[in-house]
Amino acid sequence: MSDVILEAKNIKKHFPIKKGLLLRQVGSVKAVDDVSLIVKKGETLGLVGESGCGKSTLGRTLIRLYEPTAGELKFHGQDFLKSSGDTLRKQRKNIQMIFQDPYASLDPRMTVGQIIRQPMDIHNVGTNEERNKRVLELIELVGLRKGHVNRYPHEFSGGQRQRICIARAIALNPELIICDEPVSALDVSIQAQILNLLKELQEKLGLTYIFISHDLSVIEHICNRIAVMYLGKIVEIADRDELFSNPQHPYTQALIGAIPRVGQGKKKMKKSLGGEVPSPINPPSGCAFHPRCPHKMDICSQQMPVLEGAGTHQKACFLKTT
Ligand code: SF4
Repeated sequence: MSDVILEAKNIKKHFPIKKGLLLRQVGSVKAVDDVSLIVKKGETLGLVGESGCGKSTLGRTLIRLYEPTAGELKFHGQDFLKSSGDTLRKQRKNIQMIFQDPYASLDPRMTVGQIIRQPMDIHNVGTNEERNKRVLELIELVGLRKGHVNRYPHEFSGGQRQRICIARAIALNPELIICDEPVSALDVSIQAQILNLLKELQEKLGLTYIFISHDLSVIEHICNRIAVMYLGKIVEIADRDELFSNPQHPYTQALIGAIPRVGQGKKKMKKSLGGEVPSPINPPSGCAFHPRCPHKMDICSQQMPVLEGAGTHQKACFLKTT
């Protein structure tokens, strides 16, 4: 049996821009533009890049929260884009999501027990007693106390609320969880606790994660494989240790160079990169990174480099590999 859970080929997600009384389409935001990747069972695949690079849109498109504009998606070898009815329901049960803001993603009128139970109610899993028993198991599994079951989200800290979100996400025993900036809204001291919880649950439950973050140090802590995104495209993908010891794309090099170290300010990234991510409505010609790249050559603004390379390390750049 293949260990590939999810396979994406040439996925695009363009959002139309409409104007005027007749709402005519005048352009599109190319949030995800021709991305191909696979997700293997048991791994944590990181999607990293600056804000606006398309990583969250890609995460959502991979699980059909957004329907792709073009491309192919396979879940366990089956055409995920053609799934409907019972098949889609089963696939959706198998894929869950954890969002960035644990404050916004919990209904303040529901108790912790009701929130965690909700996916089982929606998918009609087990009897009433079985669901209640499972809620208590899940509460303990994520490091909360059984006594919390009848409390409301506002009675909890940010870290505890994210634990509630995690319990809800694993309630249906999913295979794959998309974690979209799950620690960005938390204090640094709490971030490590939540990352460690995610790792523990992965080992216990055999979970696979797609982990989205703008923070490369968080990605380094939790991911096995990392895809670096820039303006809707993957510009480099490699195993974690390989990426950090031998980054080949100038954008990856700049991101790694900008990870704050002890005694070093956070401002270095802007300095080393210079400028902001260009608009995905009208991306630069050729390599989209060329206006900011310190190694730019003539060819870079004329041709688009493709993602290629030997083995598992690939980059989209005309620079010769050293
Ligand atoms: Fe820089 Fe050219 Fe490589 Fe793009 S293709 S990252 S502009 S060297």
